[in-house]
Amino acid sequence: LHVETQLGEGVAVPVDGNPAHYLISVMRIKADDIVLLFDGRSGEWAARVRDLRKRDLVLECVSRTRPLEDAPDFWLCCAPIKKGRIDLIAEKACELGVARLQPVLTRRAVVDKLNLDRLHAHLVEAAEQCGRTALPDLCAMVKLDALLRDWPGDRWLFFADETGGEPLVDALRTHPGAAAFLIGPEGGFDPAERGAIRAVTKAVPVSLGPRILRAETAAIAATAAWMTLNGD
Ligand code: SAM
Repeated sequence: LHVETQLGEGVAVPVDGNPAHYLISVMRIKADDIVLLFDGRSGEWAARVRDLRKRDLVLECVSRTRPLEDAPDFWLCCAPIKKGRIDLIAEKACELGVARLQPVLTRRAVVDKLNLDRLHAHLVEAAEQCGRTALPDLCAMVKLDALLRDWPGDRWLFFADETGGEPLVDALRTHPGAAAFLIGPEGGFDPAERGAIRAVTKAVPVSLGPRILRAETAAIAATAAWMTLNGD
């Protein structure tokens, strides 16, 4: 269970609302049961159920069960897309282990606002489900030109380009180390954007194959491929 409280030995964590409902009514926890908690900063903790009431409870941290994870150094940068589809990207990116999710506004994006609270909730749920001890950093949306202008000199920018590029696995094998994937919106990148991305020193245009994938499929496939070759 993800909590906002900073965890540590003996720390009491009040739980109410949906998480309490899940523990009390779905999991049917009892006094003295152990629940695993993480706060995204200090690893995973075993906590004992105390003060169990109908709608809330208190968990008391007993001991650390796992250290904070060292997420593979991979960022997923993707244009905003429609609600259910960007939610799917957030969920799968978290499960696959990304360290950062960076929304990027592009000219052909059909969506220009994102509900970061909703995306955060999807990341939390995915992290709880897959046993991560940290959440991916969820960044505020930036414009494509700002992203490219400030691109770090020590990180590959794999650019998923449906008009052609190096075959995915070759590109990943020949460019090891810190990386990010950039995925376009439903309408793709426009030619000027494509040129600007290719002009970034660390950019590596990559093809994901002969078929045009939906943006969420491209994001998930690219992340899975990078994690297969580089992740833990
Ligand atoms: N503009 C395209 C069109 O309408 O033909 C579609 C763009 S596609 C739905 C969304 C994004 O997924 C693209 O901008 C690209 O980043 C990525 N993508 C999809 N298929 C790809 C492929 N075969 N190779 C590389 N990237 C791909």
